[in-house]
Amino acid sequence: MAFVRKYDLAARPEPDDLLLAASAGKALFTGGVEVPALPTASAMAQADGETLLLAGELDGRRVWLAPLPPSAPEGCRILTVKPIIPLLSPSLAAAVFAGLSLSFWLARNRFCGVCGTKTAPDATERAMRCPSCGELFYPTASPAVIVAVEKAGRLLLAHNRDFPPGRFSTIAGFVDPGETFEDAVRRELREEVGIEVEGVAYAGSQGWPFPNSLMAAFRAEWKSGELAPDGTEIAEAGWFAPEALPDIPAKGTVARELIDAWLCGRSPGAA
Ligand SMILES: [Zn+2]
Repeated sequence: MAFVRKYDLAARPEPDDLLLAASAGKALFTGGVEVPALPTASAMAQADGETLLLAGELDGRRVWLAPLPPSAPEGCRILTVKPIIPLLSPSLAAAVFAGLSLSFWLARNRFCGVCGTKTAPDATERAMRCPSCGELFYPTASPAVIVAVEKAGRLLLAHNRDFPPGRFSTIAGFVDPGETFEDAVRRELREEVGIEVEGVAYAGSQGWPFPNSLMAAFRAEWKSGELAPDGTEIAEAGWFAPEALPDIPAKGTVARELIDAWLCGRSPGAA
């Protein structure tokens, strides 16, 4: 089962289709507390007459993007997505992540950035088109890197000031304009914890719509330097043995996948 991205401006929702109402890290769900699901399109009256845009198909059912309503219709709940990621199936997570990313993009491209005219969905591809000057505005994501650094069988984990108390994760940061992913990995480690690394190798990626990142994951090996947290973003950092990990990010995040992959490599059969 999967979420398949589709674009069809001429299609119209049917009552049994699914509704993907998501915005600013929150989304509309139905189903039990432990088993969130998307509501059907009939859950929300389209009183304002706004055309819903097709996001794709989730397990064979069409999914429509909609603005997040101010309050949840009967039988639905508005939930903050980040804490419930472990409860979402991979296909539902992909749909919800797409919904959050697309709503972020749509909300910021309602008017043409060149001439100021109100934009409209393009007829053939996922983009907003300016009817006056023809400019196209495609969905965008901010590239970021995240890296698992090893030193003598231990993993570098750090506590970011924005994390919940006690939570540690791999180092992450945004890619500067014109910078390669690998350069960003080396720069972030230098800036945030004062170390140099070698053997930077790609290890996967994840769209991270909080609000619109695309995380590229890497592995690297420590080369030189003592850990020196920058004190502004990183409050604390350390080298952790596989059997003594602190509180780490939940399943379903690329950070956790990086850590689990490292654990598998370090201690076969684990994770
Ligand atoms: Zn324009």
